[in-house]
Amino acid sequence: MNADLHCHSTVSDGQFAPAEVARRAHAGGVTLWSLTDHDEVGGQAEARAAAEALGMSYLCGVEISVTWASRTVHIVGLHIDPECQTLVDGLARTRDGRAARGEAIGEQLEKVGIPDAFAGALRYVSNPDMISRTHFARYMVEKGYAESTQDVFDRYLGDGKSCYVAHRWSKLADAVKWIQIAGGEAVIAHPGRYAYTPLEFDALFGEFIDLGGKAIEVVTGSHTPEQYREYADVARRFGFEASRGSDFHAAGETRVELGSLPPLPSDLKPVWERWL
Ligand code: AMP
Ligand code: MN
Ligand code: MN
Ligand code: MN
Repeated sequence: MNADLHCHSTVSDGQFAPAEVARRAHAGGVTLWSLTDHDEVGGQAEARAAAEALGMSYLCGVEISVTWASRTVHIVGLHIDPECQTLVDGLARTRDGRAARGEAIGEQLEKVGIPDAFAGALRYVSNPDMISRTHFARYMVEKGYAESTQDVFDRYLGDGKSCYVAHRWSKLADAVKWIQIAGGEAVIAHPGRYAYTPLEFDALFGEFIDLGGKAIEVVTGSHTPEQYREYADVARRFGFEASRGSDFHAAGETRVELGSLPPLPSDLKPVWERWL
């Protein structure tokens, strides 16, 4: 089983259309796949059809932006029904405000000598409601303001950096509930990316468990190999099931290609086993 249960298409901030991401997943050896666009399920029908035509098993997915203790946390929902009205409405409310935030990011960039970034970023967006920092990063690399999208996040747009604009996303309890009502399981995405204190992490994991959350990502393209070990230990300590996904966005932009991550530690229970 080569499960890759986290990646993006042009429906959010990925470079390729859902069917093209499917082709890349298949070429990378993926046998169980999920497309998990940010706050949007508009790519699910295309992804599922493409996966099945290629002989891959498919789980409908989404990655929901949440604000918890003043920071952004991403919650992946797997095995969701993309037509569930509660989920669809919740995601629409989550997306609401991205355009205004994009304009505010553009104004911050203007102040540090980077003009017209909002209009520039919009050229990279398929769906203007989904404008994200990644689209700004691609524009800034194109214009030579930074060497790579990672460089843009490190210097300008990463959480707390000079042109970062704080934003209030959904509540953790709401995101988990929408996923559950849609028939899915909630998974804390790339926990190694959040700058919480140990006490805050314990509170986050405890609250997630109280809400019925059962799994975290352990092996993800957003973790270092050391973090694979660290969050495998967290999974053992809290009794979490584990997930695995590349978080692939674009060719050359992420550290890993679809399907290329190491397997989960063999003592951890994969979250996807319940659906096989
Ligand atoms: P947004 O939803 O607009 O806040 O953008 C979030 C997206 O930006 C994430 O899904 C990643 O694709 C990317 N991103 C956020 N933080 C970083 C970071 N520190 N390094 C690289 N990419 C990041
Ligand atoms: Mn992204
Ligand atoms: Mn994420
Ligand atoms: Mn992601």
